[in-house]
Amino acid sequence: MDINAVIQRLEQRDPHDTHFRQAAKGLLGSLDGYLKDHPEIADSALLERLLEPERTVIFRVTWVDDHGATRVNRGYRVQMNGALGPYKGGLRFHPSVNLDILRFLALEQTIKNALTGLPLGAGKGGSDFDPKGRSDGEIMRFCQAFMSELYRHIGPDIDVPAGDMGVGTREVGYLFGMYRKLSGTFSGTLTGKGPTFGGSALRPEATGYGLVYFAQQALRCQDDTLEGKAVAVSGAGSVARHAALKAIEMGARVVTLSDSRGLIHRQQGFDAEQVGELARIKANGGGVADLAGQATGVSYHENEKPWARACDVALPCATQNELDQHDARALVKGGCRWLLEGANMPCTAGAVAVVREAGLGYAPGKAANAGGVAVSGLEMSQNSLREYWSASEVDRRLYGLMENIHRQCVEHGGGDHGGPPDYETGAAVAGFSRVAEAMRGQGIL
Ligand code: GLU
Repeated sequence: MDINAVIQRLEQRDPHDTHFRQAAKGLLGSLDGYLKDHPEIADSALLERLLEPERTVIFRVTWVDDHGATRVNRGYRVQMNGALGPYKGGLRFHPSVNLDILRFLALEQTIKNALTGLPLGAGKGGSDFDPKGRSDGEIMRFCQAFMSELYRHIGPDIDVPAGDMGVGTREVGYLFGMYRKLSGTFSGTLTGKGPTFGGSALRPEATGYGLVYFAQQALRCQDDTLEGKAVAVSGAGSVARHAALKAIEMGARVVTLSDSRGLIHRQQGFDAEQVGELARIKANGGGVADLAGQATGVSYHENEKPWARACDVALPCATQNELDQHDARALVKGGCRWLLEGANMPCTAGAVAVVREAGLGYAPGKAANAGGVAVSGLEMSQNSLREYWSASEVDRRLYGLMENIHRQCVEHGGGDHGGPPDYETGAAVAGFSRVAEAMRGQGIL
């Protein structure tokens, strides 16, 4: 199987899709050894099929802003791979959203969802709509307009969207309400819903908690713990804050958080109340700088990223390609030993090469941040059963799912050389082999 030829064809066909190509190159690179040992897996153009979405829907979203002006955005849903179950993955509302971004996210989702071991296909969607500074009424009208087209393409056994950047419990609630009205059904068609209408306990916390559970297991394999460790977290959204809270609970010192404008630092580590306050600030349209203004011992550094601060563990939880080669070198210099991805593809290819070369334990997002979609899978189960599970029950299952993902990565990533296993290869091989088996079992489609 000539992986370079596959990548070359991507380049010829979609020369501007740099994010998708980065994700595909990373995945195929990690699969190289496995495919050499199992050439039959790639028969019947399996890799080409894996890289080509089963279906993509692009639609106009027209809505009226608070000043009475008519606005037009573009909506998308990439239904990437349905071999393992209904398409499953978040919706992102952010001005950077385009097909390239969504296809890279959908490819990541394919491997991630397979790794959970749950019956989840993969998809991703969203819009170039910018929720920043929009009123609650505008957000609601946008969500309703978006769903007025998307509803015909989704369903509990077809495609189950959820949140991603810019789409949280409030937005999922508005999307779900409109879906319920248009379809005339009350079903589990979206996950991340409010707790009174089918939402699972711990879904908002799940990605961040799962990331720290994964980190805990990775460190444990090296006879180490998170206790007393300095942890650098980037981002200030749901993933970052819940990762920070769980790390604090485990006795770590969370020394940084950040947003697109700058970084906040606290040498002795943030306390849980400060992270809670940050959530309130963000909900009112503020940023990390506002926390520095009111909390003791917190300094704000405009236009800086967390990676030049000394830390033992780095958890990039903001967005794609936020951590480049230069940042990776700063991390290594600062004594960092672990890098685990809370965001999807937060490290550039160059950054990954630097951390791997330096011998850091490195876990890609498709494994380390799978807790979010895993609890979405649990939400689907609860909705089908018409049951609600307690937070402790969901937490127990989330822990077990992350443990299972970690175990699969170790099994396929080799862990007997003393140092941390190759989680990148492990995640790619374990996730890919499950999707590939399902695709092969279902024939050439
Ligand atoms: N957007 C999340 C992710 O990147 C979660 C998707 C979901 O819950 O379906 O995995």
